[in-house]
Amino acid sequence: GRSVHQIQSGQVIVDLISVCKELVENSIDAGATSIEVRFKNNGLDAIEVQDNGLGIAPEDYETIALKHYTSKLSTYDDLSSLQTFGFRGEALSSLCALSKFYIITARASDEPKGTKLEFEQSGKLKGTSVVAAKQGTTVVVETLFHNLPVRRKELEKNVKREYSKVLELLQAYACIRTGVKFNISNQIAKGKKAVSFSTNANTSTKENLANVFGAKALLALIPLDLHLEMNSSNHTGATQRVRNSSTQEEESHAVKIIGHISRPVVGEGRGLPDRQMFFVNSRPCHLPQVRKAFNEVYKSYNMSQSPFVFADIQLDTNAYDVNVSPDKRTIMLHDQAALLESLRDALAELFEGHDQ
Ligand code: ADP
Ligand code: MG
Repeated sequence: GRSVHQIQSGQVIVDLISVCKELVENSIDAGATSIEVRFKNNGLDAIEVQDNGLGIAPEDYETIALKHYTSKLSTYDDLSSLQTFGFRGEALSSLCALSKFYIITARASDEPKGTKLEFEQSGKLKGTSVVAAKQGTTVVVETLFHNLPVRRKELEKNVKREYSKVLELLQAYACIRTGVKFNISNQIAKGKKAVSFSTNANTSTKENLANVFGAKALLALIPLDLHLEMNSSNHTGATQRVRNSSTQEEESHAVKIIGHISRPVVGEGRGLPDRQMFFVNSRPCHLPQVRKAFNEVYKSYNMSQSPFVFADIQLDTNAYDVNVSPDKRTIMLHDQAALLESLRDALAELFEGHDQ
């Protein structure tokens, strides 16, 4: 029968998307400047995430995949100012329970050898062996849900759709993380290797977008650079938008929205898919209300299309709550009504200047 651990794990890792999100975020947390994600058969056979981050220390081998083990949180106070993605220590332990799972890791000092770590379903370390490896960590997830027949069937049935959602999420990370080189590939049949997309490290978000969506994309885009001045002491919710941040009051905090948006010109195709990527402090997020504001304002300039949006909302870590959903992709913005009002004004002003 299913163990409690298996059932709980199924709540953290619900699909291909959660696997990829957790593993890529671990690589980013490890300081990687290169992340390679290799899918086999759309992820049904395997998902491998290889990074050049700092690797796993030998003293952590025993605990790394145990439930609630994390190296990222030292005090409870850290929770509010958290900069890393992870902190709950649930991803690796869940993957042990739900897939055939192993890790190869090497630290700079271990070169040129690495260690392969294999685990029991409980997350307990089963054994280690020495293998050739470059510095960094490779996490391998084979036959996800192999031990949950109903979920496995469901995944097999929906895999095309899930895989395209996964690609969208990976594209979002690849475009926003300017310090990281991404390479995503999917091997459908043996011997054939298809690169889905790749980006370089230390390039702008604009260059990343061109790498992912094609150079033609750049012609359709205008920069987003909105500075919203939020005044939280005002109980009516009205806000003032000022461009000069040196005149800030004590109660107010600035919100910046930085990125790219398709110009609101009606014309032939713009060579860009209908994609909208929102981030809060560089984390991909679902922001339905923000999305709605973008669409509605844009629609008043271009009835025939919704905009391509790549928007990073940059604000104080105490101006939002991240952990309202287990996957951390739904975020509660404080003062959201005021922010949306201010955003609509700023977007209208931006489009005014670009409506031909
Ligand atoms: P969390 O990210 O919440 O800490 P995880 O289960 O995702 O929990 O990971 C557990 C621990 O494994 C991390 O805290 C980290 O120490 C280590 N780890 C996971 N992935 C990597 C990686 N790619 N590189 C280095 N360390 C890693
Ligand atoms: Mg993690």
